[in-house]
Amino acid sequence: ELARTTFGFVGADIAALAREAAIEAVRRIMPKLNLGEKTIPAEVLETLAVTREDFVEALKRVQPSAMREVMVQKPNVKWEDVGGLDEAQMRLKEGVELPMRDPDAFRRLGIRPAKGFLLYGPPGTGKTLLAKAVAREAEANFIATKSSDLLSKWYGESEQQIARLFARARQVAPCVIFIDELDSLVPARGSGMGEPQVTERVVNTILAEMDGLEELQSVVVIGATNRPNLIDPALMRPGRLDELIYVGVPDAPGRERILKIQTQKMPLAEDVDLAAVAARTERFTGADLEDVTRRAGLAALRERPPASRVTMAHFEAALADSRATVTPEMEREYEQIVSKMKQDA
Ligand code: ADP
Repeated sequence: ELARTTFGFVGADIAALAREAAIEAVRRIMPKLNLGEKTIPAEVLETLAVTREDFVEALKRVQPSAMREVMVQKPNVKWEDVGGLDEAQMRLKEGVELPMRDPDAFRRLGIRPAKGFLLYGPPGTGKTLLAKAVAREAEANFIATKSSDLLSKWYGESEQQIARLFARARQVAPCVIFIDELDSLVPARGSGMGEPQVTERVVNTILAEMDGLEELQSVVVIGATNRPNLIDPALMRPGRLDELIYVGVPDAPGRERILKIQTQKMPLAEDVDLAAVAARTERFTGADLEDVTRRAGLAALRERPPASRVTMAHFEAALADSRATVTPEMEREYEQIVSKMKQDA
């Protein structure tokens, strides 16, 4: 089993793995030792053995040299850090967090948790943030990649990269694999990247890896895109990225919530009315609002002497310089896409 799970490990990585597992075993007997004792008592020594669990722990700590490009993260985004996306949050809680935290409950009830989710919506609305938050709240590891990193013109290299990605995720399970820019897995003419054969191979390899993921195996794939209408429909078939979650622009209460989150560490003057700022930022995304907050802070800094608190006047100045990324036309287009995606599903 160890030989199978150490895909991508070279000899030196295996040596490091064995060493880490041994350290883990020693760590377990440490509390049983008395300080100042020069030798380990025989009865404690008897219990010293490297177990399967020690190897499982060690697998998470040893970074195999051939997989240096697959970065395993432990994100620190909490659900409270995400504003105005209650429905998306609820679906990810039910779909990812609960099955990862309590797979037995799902098994007993005979429910199959989804293996894949597709977050779609305008850029800067919090798709990456949501994926990080659900990984943290599920106490899972997080591996982020984007389609352009998976597309290589060198024959076979994309497949290897994807195989490493999924192998690493299984080694550090529970794990969320986040794939951004999924729409670029569609052939784009003359760009060099995304040549038809390459993208087709990449899509097929991802699909094969996903089909190979057992349910309840605690590896979940979350894809994200700003252009869901361009996505290869094969990616959205049942058992793949079949849970579609729209992440749209926030409404006024959502914007107020996001502004509150983003100004948590900012000293605000009493006259700052975040509800009023929210009312005047229609179609602003979370990323746009972050920009407003940053500009307001900069306006305070630019005063001579620099203001110690950010006032409503600073927010007024920031608002005068800011625009929503999403236009009314874009919003209408997304609405059409949402209703079409719901029909197709
Ligand atoms: P996307 O992946 O949808 O393009 P991101 O999640 O990368 O967007 O958002 C970019 C930044 O904008 C985040 O790091 C965060 O600071 C801010 N942001 C976006 N949406 C939200 C939100 N709903 N709540 C709080 N902050 C947000």
